[in-house]
Amino acid sequence: MSEVKALSLFSGGLDSILATRLVMAQGIQVTGIKFVSPFFHYEILDDIPGYQDEAREKYGIEVVVRDISEEYLEMLRKPTYGFGKNFNPCVDCKIFMVSRAKEMLKEFGASFLISGEVLGQRPMSQRRDTLNVISRDSESRSILLRPLSAKLMTPTLAEEQGLVDREKLLRFSGRGRSQQIALAAEFGIKDYPAPAGGCILADPNLSRRIKNFYDDNFVVRAADMTVTDILLLLVGRQFQLPGGGWLILGRDMKDNDKLTSWAEQGDALLRMPERPGPTALLRRAASCYGSEELRQADLEYAARLVVRYGRQVDGGRPPGDVSLRLGGENKSIQAETIEDTEFMDWML
Ligand code: SF4
Repeated sequence: MSEVKALSLFSGGLDSILATRLVMAQGIQVTGIKFVSPFFHYEILDDIPGYQDEAREKYGIEVVVRDISEEYLEMLRKPTYGFGKNFNPCVDCKIFMVSRAKEMLKEFGASFLISGEVLGQRPMSQRRDTLNVISRDSESRSILLRPLSAKLMTPTLAEEQGLVDREKLLRFSGRGRSQQIALAAEFGIKDYPAPAGGCILADPNLSRRIKNFYDDNFVVRAADMTVTDILLLLVGRQFQLPGGGWLILGRDMKDNDKLTSWAEQGDALLRMPERPGPTALLRRAASCYGSEELRQADLEYAARLVVRYGRQVDGGRPPGDVSLRLGGENKSIQAETIEDTEFMDWML
């Protein structure tokens, strides 16, 4: 193996796997960089060693995981190149990731970057002019190698200096996947993810929720948004209550556990101890209301929704005691259920 090292932007998709392996096949030491944020692959943070083992076993690739959540939220507030079909700022996202990976070169003693992009594969982010913009704006033009389409592109420094043999790189282009599938078979890679999975910003339904946030139509302003806000936005049933409060109800035990563990100082947490049912989190309940009356009214609605979604008793939903924790204080609210017609318009 040579002393040459490279970093690969490892999305975990087939193209990034193949681009990495193609360069590794030249004896170059490549480390895959897996970026995670609440919008993509955040669950990896629960078991980083497990993810690394899987990448090693399935693809023979060593991967390092980096959480870029905070900076990514910042970028998402105003992407220079706008959004794709949904709320996906793909061009800015790639510029951002390439820039971050470039900053890591020194840490890993690596000479260049690898990306699995294929010329013409995606309408927005993989056109030739867009690939040029990504290289230019991340200031990586000379060090960003795209091995799968390299022969259709201007040589990078790594090729010119002979660190990489350009003759062994490829000229893939377009949307077809057959060449990639054939190459995967050559490398003995059988089990790889379906294309274009895993990014919530490209999902029509979830991205609509997130967009609502960023349009500043919401109780939480884009400028104040935190990673926890995004995580909360992606679980359970979501409501905007008449007083303006943002309520999240767990759909199952898993959601309930998440809400309990993500609740922060100033959030209200409600549940009905006497019956199985949802945990509810009223976000920023301590600070987001203009008056005590509005806060109390929304807490009441929240308690009624907890009863509404709680388990039925003898085919009905009798009133129940809902426990409320807010600002270190605990109390109990006697609440009746609420008719569906009354809250349908509150659902996000
Ligand atoms: S689909 Fe998501 S992760 Fe992929 S480039 Fe677009 S915004 Fe980034």
